[in-house]
Amino acid sequence: MDLAQLTRNLEALRARAVGAAAAAPDTAALDALEVGVLGKKGDLTAILRGIGALPAEDRPKVGAIANEVRTAVEAALHEARSGLGGAELAARLATEALDVTTPGRPIRRGSLHPIIETAREIAEVFAQFGFVVYEGPEIEDDRTNFQMLNIPPDHPARDLWDTLYLDVEGLLLRTHTSPGQIRVMHEERPPIRALLPGRCFRYEAVDASHASEFFQVEGLMVDEGTSMADLKGLLDQFAHAMFGAHRPTRFRPGYYPFTEPSVAFDILCVICDGEKCPACSRTGWMTILGAGMVHPVVLRYGGIDPERYQGFAFGMGVERIANLRHQVADLRLYMEDDLRFLGAFR
Ligand SMILES: [Zn+2]
Repeated sequence: MDLAQLTRNLEALRARAVGAAAAAPDTAALDALEVGVLGKKGDLTAILRGIGALPAEDRPKVGAIANEVRTAVEAALHEARSGLGGAELAARLATEALDVTTPGRPIRRGSLHPIIETAREIAEVFAQFGFVVYEGPEIEDDRTNFQMLNIPPDHPARDLWDTLYLDVEGLLLRTHTSPGQIRVMHEERPPIRALLPGRCFRYEAVDASHASEFFQVEGLMVDEGTSMADLKGLLDQFAHAMFGAHRPTRFRPGYYPFTEPSVAFDILCVICDGEKCPACSRTGWMTILGAGMVHPVVLRYGGIDPERYQGFAFGMGVERIANLRHQVADLRLYMEDDLRFLGAFR
């Protein structure tokens, strides 16, 4: 092979490599081209192998041309890489971009717990009659939970409340919302219209109808001339709002140490309408709350003069009210946080 032939081959290689670089579809093709042309076993090396057959004076000429070819091919590869790199980046951005128009994963909407919802409904009914919501502490002292409610130590009525005592002397988990009456009387002057919703605790063996924690709503009204007739009228309004405008109601005698007289407030059975069924223990009536005129001893403990003011109080279990409306057979369901159960109230 002579100088002219080698030179033509080198020029042909340059033309082919530069053309291929410009036409390469992607950077991977450029990498392959670089190895194929400029690599140790590439076309350029192969052509230069013929250099040994040339006369000594021709060899530098071929070397110079080979360097030009290498430089030209490297330049072409570099230029092609810049162009393709930008295009590939653009393509990646196009395919991997975050599509903000894609619909999101649906988030399950929560709802109020049926007990909380019922407590709020109860509060809304009494709010129409001017009752304002107050909250007392869940940890109470024996004095406020019992003694100031006319239940001194060793009083047999303490057996009505199986109490959870704390290790701290004199403190307990409130057994009812009634101590809130004392707290409100200490905070406010008559006329008082207070509603006290809250969680209560008792030392109970838990079964379908007994829970160791439950919700009560307590009501207290104190004013001059407050009477049983006011109490009956208010509770009738409440029963009609919750259980229907024509639901018959009645008072029965009851007993609480902190009210005198005390009553149980019944509505005609919502299951059998008075026909007598197992749900109403075949009486035709269902007790929905306890109430009465605030005992003068309790008013005095509240710093209120019983000669001038009278008051009435009532207290109800929120689970009981919720059950009468939703017919839930097992109280424990309310505390188990089972979404299948809770979702049924939405
Ligand atoms: Zn019944």
